Amino acid sequence: MQIIDGKSLAQEIRQQIAREVEDLKKSRDITPGLAVILVGDDPASHAYVKMKAKACKEAGIYSITHEMPESISQGEIEETITMMNRNPNIDGILVQLPLPGHLDATRLLELIDPRKDVDGFHPFNVGRLVAGLEGFVPCTPLGVMKMLERYGINPKGKNACVVGASNIVGKPMAALLLNAFATVEVCHIYTQNLAEHTRRADILVVGVGKPNLITEEMVKEGAVVVDIGINRLEDGSLVGDVDYEAVAPKCSYITPVPGGVGPMTIAMLLQNTLTAAKARP
Ligand code: NAD
Repeated sequence: MQIIDGKSLAQEIRQQIAREVEDLKKSRDITPGLAVILVGDDPASHAYVKMKAKACKEAGIYSITHEMPESISQGEIEETITMMNRNPNIDGILVQLPLPGHLDATRLLELIDPRKDVDGFHPFNVGRLVAGLEGFVPCTPLGVMKMLERYGINPKGKNACVVGASNIVGKPMAALLLNAFATVEVCHIYTQNLAEHTRRADILVVGVGKPNLITEEMVKEGAVVVDIGINRLEDGSLVGDVDYEAVAPKCSYITPVPGGVGPMTIAMLLQNTLTAAKARP
C-alpha cells in the first residue's frame, strides 16, 4: 500500500506555479489576480478563504477578498462581480460557497465571465468539461486527477466509482474519469446497496461528508481509494469519509485526510488563476 502524499505534491506544484508567475511578470509584466467574494461569518468559509489568500501571496499572485455581511443583497454582489469582470487586473473570480439562503448562487455563478471562472462552476465550463473540451475544471476533482497522474495511475479501462454527486465534487469528478476512459459509476444518497457498487471499483473516489461511510468490506482488494471528504469530529480532529485504518491495508494507493486532496484543491486554484492570467490578450 502506498500513501498518496497530496501535501508534498501540492507544495511542489505551488513552487512550480510561483516560478511561472515570476516569469510572467518578467516577460509580459502581468501579475495574476484573484478576487474572492466572501459573504457572512461562516468560520469554515473564512478559514478556506484565508488559506487561499495566503497561497496566492506565496505564489506571487495578487488576491483581494470582498468581505460582505450576511445581509448583503443579491444586487450588490452582482455589482461587485460585474466590476471584477471588467477589471483587467483580475484574472479569476470566485464566490465562496455556501451562500446565505436568500441569495441565488446559480445566478451569481452564471454572472462570472467564464474566462475568469477559476472554480469552473459556470455552466459554460461545465458544458465544456462534459464535452471533453478545454476549459476551467473545478479545483478539487482536478486535484484528484493530478494525484492519479503523478502516481502513474491511469484510469483508462478501469472501473471507477464516485460516491457523492454534487456539482462541485462528484459530477465533475465523474466527468473527468470518463474523459480519461474509465468506466464510471456515480453513487449518491439514493443509491441502493452502495457496497455493491464500491466493491467493483478499481478506483474509488468518495466525496460525501460522512465519517466512516466507506468501510473495509466495501473496498476491493488492491483498489485505489481517494478520500475527498472533510469532517471535523467533536474532539476537533479532521477525518475523511473512509475508515482509513481498516481500509488502507487493502488498497494499492490511498489518500490520507488531512494531507491528501485538500492541499491539492488550493494548488489547482492557483493553477487555474495562472492559466487565466496567461490567456490575457
Ligand atoms: P454535498 O453535500 O453538496 O454533496 C454530498 C453528496 O453526497 C450528494 O451527492 C449526496 O447525494 C451524497 N450522499 C450523501 N449521503 C450519502 C450516502 N449515505 N451515501 C452515498 N452518497 C451520499 O457536499 P460536497 O460539497 O460535494 O462535499 C462533499 C465532501 O467533500 C464534504 O465532506 C466536503 O467537506 C468535502 N470537500 C472537500 C474538498 C477538498 O478540498 N478536499 C473540497 C470540497 C468539498
